[in-house]
Amino acid sequence: MLIDSHCHFDFDVFDGSRDALMWRCLEQGVVGFLVPATTHASWSKLESLIESYPSWRAAYGLHPYFLEGALLSQIDLLGAQCEKSKVVAVGEIGLDCWPNAVDMRTQVDFFSRQLQVAKLLKLPVILHARKSYDLVFKCLRDAEFKEGGVVHAFNGSLEQAKRFLGLGFVLGIGGTITYPRAKKAHRVLASLDSRDFILETDSPDMPIQGFQGQTNTPLSIPLIAQSAAIIRDESVEQITAQTYDNLLRVFPKWREDLL
Ligand SMILES: [Zn+2]
Repeated sequence: MLIDSHCHFDFDVFDGSRDALMWRCLEQGVVGFLVPATTHASWSKLESLIESYPSWRAAYGLHPYFLEGALLSQIDLLGAQCEKSKVVAVGEIGLDCWPNAVDMRTQVDFFSRQLQVAKLLKLPVILHARKSYDLVFKCLRDAEFKEGGVVHAFNGSLEQAKRFLGLGFVLGIGGTITYPRAKKAHRVLASLDSRDFILETDSPDMPIQGFQGQTNTPLSIPLIAQSAAIIRDESVEQITAQTYDNLLRVFPKWREDLL
């Protein structure tokens, strides 16, 4: 049973194809989907889609790259939103050092406040960290955050990986590893313990090798699992079983739902 631990299946780009894609995913053994919110405006659509699809789980939060126009008062609504059914995490939240993002002080403020919400609710977080691993780590430590979660689309060093693993996080491994030139990502993945990672596509972004320029979908998950198996010299079955166990360990609410 494969799970896409990070896909934006709620985005408008999937409006005409979502049902058909879901069926194709089930045929390919992709049976679960964790859909993290981005902006406050996206919460209500995600909430209604979550009700329609039994295999979906949600995370709510304010994404650091889309903070333009975001209000701190929206964080006051986050706690109640995350107590709704099928919510397994707060996310995606974090820090984004891309040139177009809002200033870092604002980002740190939104991130730290959302960490406090997650802490209060004892929920793990889905971290978005672009060129900001050290600062994200510092914010987690300052917040004394102990609920863990996932570092989505991890592409840091083994040393950075170990710091997050030490705080109870796993790493989100995605389409990057399907590219032969991604030597550093391969090295890090090969060095990890089998408990340390889960699989994700970040659909509709981050197309896998051979599909550049196309809309990425959760159908890439089996191909990412295959690449991970080759890189780690394990079977696809091992990767599938390990990442499933890891996911349910990191997102306890999902496991409770299945019991
Ligand atoms: Zn994302």
